[in-house]
Amino acid sequence: MEHDIIYDAVIIGGGVIGCSIARYLSKFKGTFIVLEKHSDVGDETSSANSAIVHSGYDPKPGTLKAKFNVLGNKMMGDLCKELDVDFRRIGSITLALNEDDLETLKMLLERAKENGVRAELLSKEEVIALEPNVNKGILGGLFCPDAGIISPFNLTVSLMENAMDNGAHLSLNTEVKEIKKIENNLYLVKDQNGNEYKTKFVINAAGVNSELVTKLVEEPTFHIVPTKGEYILLDHFKASFIRHTLFMCPSKVGKGVLVSPTTSYNYLVGPSATIGAIDDKSCDSETYDFLREKAKSLVSEVPYSETIKGFAGIRANNTLDDFIIEESKANPGFFLVAGIMSPGLASSPAIGEYVANYVAEKLKLKENTRFNPRIKPHKNLKEMNLNSYNALIQEDPRFGRFICRCEKVSEGEIIDAINRNCGATTVKGVRKRTRAGFGKCQGAFCQKDVVHILARELKKDIKEICYGDKGTEICIGNSKEVKK
Ligand SMILES: Cc1cc2nc3c(=O)[nH]c(=O)nc-3n(C[C@H](O)[C@H](O)[C@H](O)COP(=O)(O)OP(=O)(O)OC[C@H]3O[C@@H](n4cnc5c(N)ncnc54)[C@H](O)[C@@H]3O)c2cc1C
Repeated sequence: MEHDIIYDAVIIGGGVIGCSIARYLSKFKGTFIVLEKHSDVGDETSSANSAIVHSGYDPKPGTLKAKFNVLGNKMMGDLCKELDVDFRRIGSITLALNEDDLETLKMLLERAKENGVRAELLSKEEVIALEPNVNKGILGGLFCPDAGIISPFNLTVSLMENAMDNGAHLSLNTEVKEIKKIENNLYLVKDQNGNEYKTKFVINAAGVNSELVTKLVEEPTFHIVPTKGEYILLDHFKASFIRHTLFMCPSKVGKGVLVSPTTSYNYLVGPSATIGAIDDKSCDSETYDFLREKAKSLVSEVPYSETIKGFAGIRANNTLDDFIIEESKANPGFFLVAGIMSPGLASSPAIGEYVANYVAEKLKLKENTRFNPRIKPHKNLKEMNLNSYNALIQEDPRFGRFICRCEKVSEGEIIDAINRNCGATTVKGVRKRTRAGFGKCQGAFCQKDVVHILARELKKDIKEICYGDKGTEICIGNSKEVKK
C-alpha cells in the first residue's frame, strides 16, 4: 500500500533518539512519522541501560559524545518538567580503588574542566561521609553534582507522546526492509508488509541495527560492535542505602560496573561488557558472579537477597568510537544518527534538537506556532497527600483500586497509560509506563487484571492481548469450558 502523503521526514527507530528527534521536529510545521519494528517504543537499548544522565566528565573533549552529553544534561531538567518525567540530579562519585585510580581521577577532573562540567576531588573521609555504605578500602573520589538518574522508559514514551500531541505520527510493528531513491530527491521506504512511505528525509535512528539500515542505502563507513551489558536489579529495600551513582574509574573497555539507586528507589548493579550478537540479551550466572565481585570494591555489602531480576541491554558501540550524526554526502536526504552508544540517553535531548533543526533548515520548515511542550500530567499518587488522594478517589474510584500491590499501581493509572497518545497496547507497555508488574512478584498477581483492563480499554478480545510483540499472546483459550 502506498501512502499518499509525502513525509518531510521518516524516522527509522522508536528508541529514545528517534522519539527525541520526532519531538523536536514537531516544533515545526511538517509531516513526520516514526517507524518502529516492535509493538512499542523504547523496547530495545533505550529500556535496558544504567539510566544515568551522565554529567559529561568522561567523554574525550572535542568528540560528539562530549558535546551532546554536556548539552543534553543541561537540557534534561527543563525537558523532564515539560514531559512529567522523573529525573533527579543525585550526583555521581567515581571512586579510586588504588593509587593508579587516584591519577586517573586527576585526569578526569581536567577533562571535566575542558568539557565545562562541574567536578570536585573528594578525600576518602569525604566520600564516606556522603556514602556510609561505601567500601572502606577506597582511596578517594571524583564528585559530579550534575549527574542524575531518570526513568529511560518514561522519557522515551513521553517524548513520543508529546511529538504525537503536536502532530507527529507513529507506526508500530513496522520494520523497514527497503529504502529506494526515487524522483525529485525523494526516498521510498518500504516495510515488511509492503507499505510504502514517500519522504524527503530518511533519518536512521535504528540503534544496534543502524549499520544494517545504512546498508539499505549505501556502504557504511562504520561497523557496529554490539556489546552486551548485564545487570542485577534489587528491590527498593531501604531508602538511601546508596545516595549517589557510584562509578569505577573508566577504562578502555567502558565505564565499568556501577552501583546506583534508580528513580523508583530500586538499586542497580552492573553492567558487564561482552561483545556478541545484536540480539543476544541472555543473562548467565558467571556474569552475575563477576558483577557481584566487581561491585564489592564499591559497596562491600550489597544485600543480594533483595534481587528482583537480571536483564541485559546491547550497546551500539562502533568502530569510529563516537556518535555518527551526519547527513550522508553521497545520498543527501539520508541522515545517520547511528552508533549512539553511552551516553546516548543523557545526550538524547541535544541530539533530537540538533537533528530536528538541521532537517527544518534544509527543508525550510516553518515554526509550529501551536506547539505545546507539555504533556498531560500523570496522577502521581505516591506524591499526593491524603486529602488530595481522597478527593481523587471520590472523583474517580478507579484510582482507589490497586492492581499491582508490589508497586502500588491503581487501575486509574493503568487506564490513563493506555488512553494517551503513544499509549500502552501490551502488558509490557503497561509495565514500562506504570511499573505494574515490575515489583518482587514480577506480575504473578496482577498480570491477569492488566490483561483484562487492556482488552476492555482497547476493545479487543482477551486472546489478542500480548505480553509484548505479536506471538506473545497470553491467553490461548478457556481452561474450563462452562456448559449451560
Ligand atoms: C548496558 C548499557 C548501559 C547504558 N547506560 C547508559 C547510561 O547510563 N546513560 C546513557 O546516557 N546512556 C546509556 N546507555 C546508552 C543508551 O542506552 C543508548 O545510547 C540509547 O538508548 C540509544 O538509543 P537509540 O534510540 O539510538 O537506540 P534503541 O533504543 O536501540 O532504538 C532503536 C530502535 O530502532 C528500532 N529498529 C531497528 N531496526 C529497525 C528497522 N529496520 N525498522 C524499524 N525499526 C527498527 C529498534 O526496534 C529500536 O526500538 C547504555 C547502553 C547500554 C546497552
